Amino acid sequence: MAYAVTHVIVAIVVLDLFRHYVFGKKKFPRFLLVIGGIAGLLPDIDVPLSWTYNFLTRNQSNFHGQFTHSIIFPLIFLTVGIIYYYHSNNLRKNKKWAQIFFVISAGWALHLPLDCLFGGYETFLWPLGIKTAFCPQWNLRDYAPGLDALILIAWLVHEEIHNRIKDYI
Ligand SMILES: [Zn+2]
Repeated sequence: MAYAVTHVIVAIVVLDLFRHYVFGKKKFPRFLLVIGGIAGLLPDIDVPLSWTYNFLTRNQSNFHGQFTHSIIFPLIFLTVGIIYYYHSNNLRKNKKWAQIFFVISAGWALHLPLDCLFGGYETFLWPLGIKTAFCPQWNLRDYAPGLDALILIAWLVHEEIHNRIKDYI
Protein backbone atom coordinates (compact mmCIF):
# COMPACT_ATOMS: atom_id res chain seq x y z
CA MET A 1 0.00 0.00 0.00
CA ALA A 2 1.05 3.56 -0.62
CA TYR A 3 1.48 6.03 2.23
CA ALA A 4 -1.63 7.75 3.56
CA VAL A 5 -0.24 11.12 2.47
CA THR A 6 0.33 9.85 -1.08
CA HIS A 7 -3.31 8.79 -1.38
CA VAL A 8 -4.55 12.18 -0.22
CA ILE A 9 -2.10 14.19 -2.34
CA VAL A 10 -2.71 12.20 -5.53
CA ALA A 11 -6.50 12.49 -5.15
CA ILE A 12 -6.30 16.25 -4.53
CA VAL A 13 -3.83 16.88 -7.36
CA VAL A 14 -5.76 14.83 -9.93
CA LEU A 15 -9.08 16.43 -8.95
CA ASP A 16 -7.51 19.88 -8.99
CA LEU A 17 -6.18 19.31 -12.50
CA PHE A 18 -9.73 18.42 -13.59
CA ARG A 19 -10.98 21.51 -11.76
CA HIS A 20 -8.42 23.63 -13.53
CA TYR A 21 -8.55 22.26 -17.07
CA VAL A 22 -11.97 20.63 -17.45
CA PHE A 23 -14.67 22.02 -15.15
CA GLY A 24 -13.45 25.44 -14.06
CA LYS A 25 -13.42 26.90 -10.56
CA LYS A 26 -17.03 28.02 -10.47
CA LYS A 27 -18.48 24.63 -11.30
CA PHE A 28 -16.05 22.84 -9.01
CA PRO A 29 -15.98 24.48 -5.54
CA ARG A 30 -12.81 24.00 -3.54
CA PHE A 31 -14.45 22.05 -0.71
CA LEU A 32 -14.87 19.19 -3.20
CA LEU A 33 -11.07 18.85 -3.29
CA VAL A 34 -11.05 18.30 0.47
CA ILE A 35 -13.78 15.66 0.23
CA GLY A 36 -12.01 13.97 -2.70
CA GLY A 37 -8.70 13.99 -0.80
CA ILE A 38 -10.28 12.33 2.23
CA ALA A 39 -12.08 9.84 -0.05
CA GLY A 40 -8.65 8.98 -1.47
CA LEU A 41 -7.80 7.57 1.93
CA LEU A 42 -11.17 6.01 2.81
CA PRO A 43 -10.47 2.51 1.43
CA ASP A 44 -7.73 2.21 4.08
CA ILE A 45 -10.42 2.21 6.78
CA ASP A 46 -9.64 -1.51 6.72
CA VAL A 47 -6.25 -0.83 8.37
CA PRO A 48 -7.63 0.58 11.67
CA LEU A 49 -10.38 -2.04 11.43
CA SER A 50 -7.64 -4.74 11.33
CA TRP A 51 -5.98 -3.17 14.39
CA THR A 52 -9.27 -3.07 16.27
CA TYR A 53 -10.15 -6.63 15.29
CA ASN A 54 -6.69 -7.88 16.30
CA PHE A 55 -6.83 -5.97 19.56
CA LEU A 56 -10.20 -7.48 20.45
CA THR A 57 -9.51 -11.03 19.27
CA ARG A 58 -5.72 -11.23 19.83
CA ASN A 59 -5.36 -12.25 16.19
CA GLN A 60 -2.83 -11.20 13.58
CA SER A 61 -5.25 -10.54 10.71
CA ASN A 62 -4.68 -7.98 7.99
CA PHE A 63 -7.81 -6.89 6.15
CA HIS A 64 -5.98 -4.37 3.98
CA GLY A 65 -7.04 -4.78 0.37
CA GLN A 66 -9.61 -7.47 1.14
CA PHE A 67 -12.98 -5.73 0.78
CA THR A 68 -12.81 -1.95 0.69
CA HIS A 69 -10.35 -2.01 -2.22
CA SER A 70 -12.96 -3.32 -4.63
CA ILE A 71 -14.09 -1.31 -7.65
CA ILE A 72 -17.66 -1.90 -6.45
CA PHE A 73 -17.44 1.01 -3.94
CA PRO A 74 -16.53 3.73 -6.47
CA LEU A 75 -19.26 2.34 -8.73
CA ILE A 76 -21.83 2.59 -5.91
CA PHE A 77 -20.87 6.23 -5.20
CA LEU A 78 -20.92 7.00 -8.93
CA THR A 79 -24.40 5.49 -9.26
CA VAL A 80 -25.73 7.45 -6.28
CA GLY A 81 -24.20 10.61 -7.80
CA ILE A 82 -25.91 9.97 -11.13
CA ILE A 83 -29.25 9.38 -9.37
CA TYR A 84 -28.88 12.71 -7.52
CA TYR A 85 -27.82 14.45 -10.71
CA TYR A 86 -30.92 13.44 -12.64
CA HIS A 87 -33.37 13.61 -9.75
CA SER A 88 -34.43 17.16 -10.04
CA ASN A 89 -37.00 18.13 -7.39
CA ASN A 90 -34.56 20.56 -5.90
CA LEU A 91 -32.06 20.88 -8.69
CA ARG A 92 -29.41 23.03 -7.08
CA LYS A 93 -29.18 21.06 -3.86
CA ASN A 94 -29.21 17.74 -5.68
CA LYS A 95 -26.41 18.81 -8.02
CA LYS A 96 -24.27 19.66 -5.00
CA TRP A 97 -24.85 16.19 -3.56
CA ALA A 98 -24.19 14.67 -6.97
CA GLN A 99 -20.83 16.46 -7.07
CA ILE A 100 -20.00 15.22 -3.57
CA PHE A 101 -20.73 11.61 -4.54
CA PHE A 102 -18.78 12.00 -7.79
CA VAL A 103 -15.62 13.20 -6.01
CA ILE A 104 -15.93 10.47 -3.38
CA SER A 105 -16.15 7.97 -6.23
CA ALA A 106 -13.12 9.52 -7.95
CA GLY A 107 -11.03 9.70 -4.76
CA TRP A 108 -11.87 6.11 -3.85
CA ALA A 109 -11.16 4.90 -7.40
CA LEU A 110 -7.74 6.62 -7.41
CA HIS A 111 -6.75 4.70 -4.30
CA LEU A 112 -6.94 1.36 -6.09
CA PRO A 113 -4.34 1.79 -8.88
CA LEU A 114 -2.01 3.48 -6.38
CA ASP A 115 -2.06 0.50 -4.03
CA CYS A 116 -1.73 -1.70 -7.08
CA LEU A 117 1.49 0.08 -8.11
CA PHE A 118 2.84 -0.14 -4.59
CA GLY A 119 2.71 -3.87 -4.29
CA GLY A 120 -0.44 -5.26 -5.76
CA TYR A 121 -3.41 -7.11 -4.45
CA GLU A 122 -6.03 -9.31 -6.04
CA THR A 123 -9.44 -8.25 -4.81
CA PHE A 124 -10.47 -5.50 -7.22
CA LEU A 125 -13.60 -7.43 -8.09
CA TRP A 126 -14.76 -8.37 -4.56
CA PRO A 127 -17.39 -9.73 -3.77
CA LEU A 128 -16.95 -11.73 -6.97
CA GLY A 129 -14.45 -14.44 -6.19
CA ILE A 130 -12.33 -13.56 -9.21
CA LYS A 131 -8.66 -12.95 -8.43
CA THR A 132 -7.01 -10.29 -10.55
CA ALA A 133 -3.31 -10.36 -11.26
CA PHE A 134 -2.68 -7.28 -13.36
CA CYS A 135 -0.78 -5.21 -10.79
CA PRO A 136 2.82 -4.60 -11.89
CA GLN A 137 5.48 -5.44 -9.32
CA TRP A 138 7.63 -2.32 -9.47
CA ASN A 139 8.50 -2.21 -5.76
CA LEU A 140 7.60 1.47 -5.62
CA ARG A 141 7.31 1.03 -1.85
CA ASP A 142 11.03 1.84 -1.48
CA TYR A 143 10.51 5.22 -3.15
CA ALA A 144 7.33 6.16 -1.29
CA PRO A 145 8.65 9.18 0.66
CA GLY A 146 10.37 10.63 -2.43
CA LEU A 147 7.28 10.09 -4.55
CA ASP A 148 5.15 12.17 -2.17
CA ALA A 149 7.65 14.99 -2.40
CA LEU A 150 7.92 14.83 -6.20
CA ILE A 151 4.14 14.97 -6.70
CA LEU A 152 3.81 17.82 -4.22
CA ILE A 153 6.65 19.84 -5.79
CA ALA A 154 5.32 19.30 -9.33
CA TRP A 155 1.89 20.47 -8.19
CA LEU A 156 3.25 23.52 -6.37
CA VAL A 157 5.24 24.50 -9.48
CA HIS A 158 2.09 24.06 -11.57
CA GLU A 159 0.09 26.23 -9.18
CA GLU A 160 2.81 28.88 -9.05
CA ILE A 161 3.04 29.02 -12.84
CA HIS A 162 -0.67 29.71 -12.88
CA ASN A 163 -0.40 32.13 -9.96
CA ARG A 164 -2.85 30.15 -7.96
CA ILE A 165 -0.90 29.44 -4.79
CA LYS A 166 -2.90 32.15 -3.02
CA ASP A 167 -6.04 30.09 -3.66
CA TYR A 168 -4.90 27.66 -1.02
CA ILE A 169 -3.80 30.03 1.72
ZN1 LIG B 1 -5.09 0.82 0.53
